[in-house]
Amino acid sequence: MATASFIANWKMNKTLAESRDYLNKLQKLLPARAKSGDQVILASPYTALASLAEWIRASSLEIGLAAQNLHFAAEGAYTGEISSSMLYETGCRYVIVGHSERRLHCGETDEMIAQKLAAAGIAHLVPILCVGESEREREQNKTVAVIKRQIKKGLCLGLSSKGHENGPLDLSDCIIAYEPVWAIGTGKTPTPFEVEKVHREIYDYLQSEGVVSEGMPKILYGGSVNEKNISAFMEKAHIDGVLVGGASLSAERFVQMIELGLEAKETVCTS
Ligand code: PEP
Repeated sequence: MATASFIANWKMNKTLAESRDYLNKLQKLLPARAKSGDQVILASPYTALASLAEWIRASSLEIGLAAQNLHFAAEGAYTGEISSSMLYETGCRYVIVGHSERRLHCGETDEMIAQKLAAAGIAHLVPILCVGESEREREQNKTVAVIKRQIKKGLCLGLSSKGHENGPLDLSDCIIAYEPVWAIGTGKTPTPFEVEKVHREIYDYLQSEGVVSEGMPKILYGGSVNEKNISAFMEKAHIDGVLVGGASLSAERFVQMIELGLEAKETVCTS
């Protein structure tokens, strides 16, 4: 069976009632092959995580749950923040780290992101590390350099003789989402060919850092993915899945994208 990951990033959307409704729709509409395994992950606001976890447990769905952020400290005087162990306790097993909206609006730096990745590892949360260049960096041909810097600093690569120093973080369990900043929520996307090229660069970079011997992180694409363009992305061998924002807010559209994406991945695997 083709394996692929589909992450719905709800951002700051959906009340509890809306989350329940969404899950009911997934229960009815998701194809059987996408109901088991952690191919489908919902990144909901904090307020819905615990309820979603309970509803998922009581359903036939085996989908994963992600938080959209975490704090790097284990506990303490950080008003308004949430720690990795608190997230784990809700039933959440994934966490988005370094989304460009947080880098931009909340001033998150590569160094803070590295601390958050370490905190995720300590609590056994699988981090979904978002990396991507701005429009200006793309115009200046800096895409690969920016992404390598974000991955190197985030994952603390090259800090020890082993090649990396990431504490309890198992890199083979990480997910990397390549999300060009200029493509998020804009309707603009790089071509699937361009995305695949960047994914290869990431793969080669991780290989050169000795990460591959432990198993490769999955590398997903994110940025204005929808029902019309998902197949073209998923047909590429080096694109392991997608992180979808706006278009994932409708359960019907998200399910349609999963169906199209799995179909496209199967074509790659059988050709
Ligand atoms: C995102 O939130 O990471 C994202 C890719 O959003 P959108 O699909 O709306 O571009």
